[in-house]
Amino acid sequence: MERKSMEERLRCVADTLGLLDYVPAATAGLTKKISGCDFSHFDLTDLEAGIHPFITTYRSLQSRTQLHNALSVYDDLREGTSATLHNFQALQESEKSGFPYSMMECTYCFKSFRVLLHTLLGNVHPLTNAWDTFVSLWIGREARLAEYLGPCQFALVLRWLQIRFSAWFTDQHREPVMISVPDFTGLLTKILYEESWMPTLPPRYQNHSFFPARVLGMSAPAPATRALTPSTRRSSLRSTTPTSTAPRRPASPAPAPSPAPAPAPGGAVQGRGARVNNSSFHAAFTPFRQLGLPLMMVRDRAREANRGVPNNDDHVEFCLSYHVLGFCWENCGRTQDHRSHRPAEHARLVAWCTDCYREGGPL
Ligand SMILES: [Zn+2]
Repeated sequence: MERKSMEERLRCVADTLGLLDYVPAATAGLTKKISGCDFSHFDLTDLEAGIHPFITTYRSLQSRTQLHNALSVYDDLREGTSATLHNFQALQESEKSGFPYSMMECTYCFKSFRVLLHTLLGNVHPLTNAWDTFVSLWIGREARLAEYLGPCQFALVLRWLQIRFSAWFTDQHREPVMISVPDFTGLLTKILYEESWMPTLPPRYQNHSFFPARVLGMSAPAPATRALTPSTRRSSLRSTTPTSTAPRRPASPAPAPSPAPAPAPGGAVQGRGARVNNSSFHAAFTPFRQLGLPLMMVRDRAREANRGVPNNDDHVEFCLSYHVLGFCWENCGRTQDHRSHRPAEHARLVAWCTDCYREGGPL
């Protein structure tokens, strides 16, 4: 069985690298890509295609369990056991990887991707070597990098790398000569020197549920914007260690939470439709809005804890964007919740936010 042998191979390579805790998930999708030598692709905007760090993102324990269960159903299927449509949906759902929101999740992804590259290309390939160097420098500078990167920027780090991996695989696929490998370490310099480096996500991923409004430059209220600057980030990280020895940098150029990602070629705006403001925004949600958390992270963490976003009285999931952030988009899947809440609905959403709208997930 192809997938299982892939799983074994990945585990074996991880073992030789001392990375057994970082074995990438041998999903059906990944197996297909590898057995079909489908590394190169011409669409840089497709984060699911190709071989790059987005495909080895961190999974929570619960998400790993779900994937494991779904894959054993898949293995059964391949042996001819009957399956239901539900099985296929579960498999598809569990194969989806998420975005990293913390240094830990990002570093996990990089180590896991090391295992994958070593498995695919071996230990001496220049691309493998370039990646090994990058990862070891990243790990050595984690503490400093953490001062410059907020929860929303880790996905952009992956995007920066993904563009280079995808471009390299594509070029190498086209050309008969050896294409020089990307300089991944340049990213570290750019971040630490506060040079501009943040790419935009492809339009279809520029979802308001992924990035909070301020990162998309839509309604950046001053206090929320500050949440991402190194100085405030540093103070929140070190609030318990008053005697910080790190050199304090002048409170100068806040690395701009990326400028409004181009309202842009191809029309991200078309996809989500026009902006809809909540004219009766309830002040009870202000404290949650001010946390500046990516809604997708809030939802994911809550779902993992079996505390998914509740429904309104019409059995439609509450639209966090509309009620907590104060605006949404025409093409939101929860437009039936773009209305004022009845008292019981309001109380239900506030109670849920109190428990679940937190950086670390539900209490
Ligand atoms: Zn909405």
